[in-house]
Amino acid sequence: MTLEELVSYANRYGFVFPGSEIYGGLANSWDYGPLGTLMCENIRKAWFKKFIDESKNNVRLDSPIIVNPRVWEASGHLKSFNDPKVDCVACKNRFRADKLIEDSLGIDADGMTLDQIDKLIEDNNIKCPSCGAHDFTKARTFSLMYKTSQGVVEDSSSTVYLRPETCQGIYIDFKNVQRAMRKKIPFGIGQNGKAFRNEITPGNFLFRVREFDQCELEFFCKPGTENEWFEYYKDFCVNFLKELGLKDENLKLYDHPKEKLAFYSKGTTDILFNYPWGFDELWGIASRSDYDLSKHIEYSKQDLTYLDPETNERYVPYVVEPSVGVGRLFLAFLLNAYENETLLNGDTREVLHIHPYLAPYKAVVLPLIKKTHSEKALEIFKLLSEEFIVSYDDTQAIGKRYRRADAIGTPFAVTIDDDTLENGNVTIRNRDTMLQDVVKVSELKDYLRGKLKY
Ligand code: ATP
Repeated sequence: MTLEELVSYANRYGFVFPGSEIYGGLANSWDYGPLGTLMCENIRKAWFKKFIDESKNNVRLDSPIIVNPRVWEASGHLKSFNDPKVDCVACKNRFRADKLIEDSLGIDADGMTLDQIDKLIEDNNIKCPSCGAHDFTKARTFSLMYKTSQGVVEDSSSTVYLRPETCQGIYIDFKNVQRAMRKKIPFGIGQNGKAFRNEITPGNFLFRVREFDQCELEFFCKPGTENEWFEYYKDFCVNFLKELGLKDENLKLYDHPKEKLAFYSKGTTDILFNYPWGFDELWGIASRSDYDLSKHIEYSKQDLTYLDPETNERYVPYVVEPSVGVGRLFLAFLLNAYENETLLNGDTREVLHIHPYLAPYKAVVLPLIKKTHSEKALEIFKLLSEEFIVSYDDTQAIGKRYRRADAIGTPFAVTIDDDTLENGNVTIRNRDTMLQDVVKVSELKDYLRGKLKY
């Protein structure tokens, strides 16, 4: 599936719409439609289930988007959360300079100085991807932080920032959570929520946007055990993706080379997914030592150390951090599951082989003939919707309704016909195999429960 095909598919079926469309849009912003909203909710639910609820060590948190700006001083974001940018003198388009070099020359320019970037662009006569001109401004740093102000007076003392990542809210609450939940190291705190980055060149649909939803776990462990946990969470993330159906051939691990790591980092591995433009980052897993907590100790002057109750050792915990964007997961799951299938009789059907746990609707209820079977079908819809997110469709011929359900990934189609009225049986058609089971209405919930287990 190409990116254009995906965008069109997502729009056609109500997964994703262009943002602010009736006003001409807003730079690569997107609205999740009814089905996209459901699917993102399921992705978040799966993440919380696996990373928090099924772990005896981990708990959740919900901290605000706007926090005391000192947090961003301590974390280093105000000083160094920048990307290098250049402008095309001819067409005025703006580019992230390191990506421009990477795309034009295949060189990794991450971490280069502005002078090095200027020299590479000049020496290689790099051209503008938009208009083809060879005339760029000198590279400059550009802060990715969104600035706003808080309170009634708009002066520099009221300047605050929209968080560019969710994890700082976790660090600053480390002590509160540890105390209130009587947690012992090792333990993790996970959070999901919006993050904002004023990206120079957003693009590739949902891959790089300026407002996105992040799921981050900060796992606090004893210094010396970080490698063990780093390996553990790398495997854990890969298994999470595979259990939800991501194919092996669509996944790759990329270990950041040692010389590229920040001085405090003990290792970073990205899980890459095979997007239409090639393998690119889906999930970042970082072993961050005690850097973040130490910075907050330094700036807040508060004691964020941990006293081991058994050994009486006091230390600043080390952190292993798996961090992922819900939008990138959404993109990967859609691309991985979509198929334009040719059937044995030569017909084709669009089908989304998405894991039932992630599917927007778990089942669709279909009265075979609207006039005759609607009353019973509505009764069954009501029954199922007490427990599952299901849809109801009484339009068009049954074959067309099956096709629509296949295309949006609904795993089960429950058809109500004369046999339902006479004997209380419904027919359940499986999205992937297209085979049908006959089930009693009284056993329908059990049937679906069994099939939807995750
Ligand atoms: P990149 O190098 O692509 O800019 P990054 O390495 O800076 O990303 P992190 O800061 O490690 O990204 O963010 C963790 C995760 O958050 C990423 O793996 C990705 O899933 C998600 N993410 C980061 N930036 C964006 C964005 N602009 N749009 C959507 N998701 C994002």
